[in-house]
Amino acid sequence: MTATALTGGCQCGAVRFRAEGLGRASVCHCRMCQKAFGAFYGPLVTGVGVVWTRGEPKRFQSSNLVRRGFCGDCGTPLTYEYDGGVELAIGAFDDPSVAAPVIQVNPSDKLPFVDGIPGLPMRAPGSEPRQEEWKHRVISHQHPDRDMEAWPPAVA
Ligand SMILES: [Zn+2]
Repeated sequence: MTATALTGGCQCGAVRFRAEGLGRASVCHCRMCQKAFGAFYGPLVTGVGVVWTRGEPKRFQSSNLVRRGFCGDCGTPLTYEYDGGVELAIGAFDDPSVAAPVIQVNPSDKLPFVDGIPGLPMRAPGSEPRQEEWKHRVISHQHPDRDMEAWPPAVA
């Protein structure tokens, strides 16, 4: 396994996957992907040789042709599964940058403000001290972005 291992999983760590390879990466604007991801669109990449290395997703049959996989414990969206294969949620990868989207699909459902997002003002780091103070108090319970021997870690 290398530093660019194609691994990932859910936020709580109950479900982990590994892929041997990746196909085309896309963002899907369809209404079902908006709902399944709780987001403006669904970022998905074709997974080749996908194996579940810890746990397994729970599935929702979102249509007669497609099942959506997600962590039954924490709800993280993980897959789009159909008889032609499996697509993996790009944001669930330990390194999401391995799957840069190359196409957008289902534009008829695209939300009208999506194209304006890159032009929105960006809050400068440190510009809101109360927000910075809050962030310093955060203790993450999210699974690390790498495979772990055991999770959650043993409590000392
Ligand atoms: Zn989880």
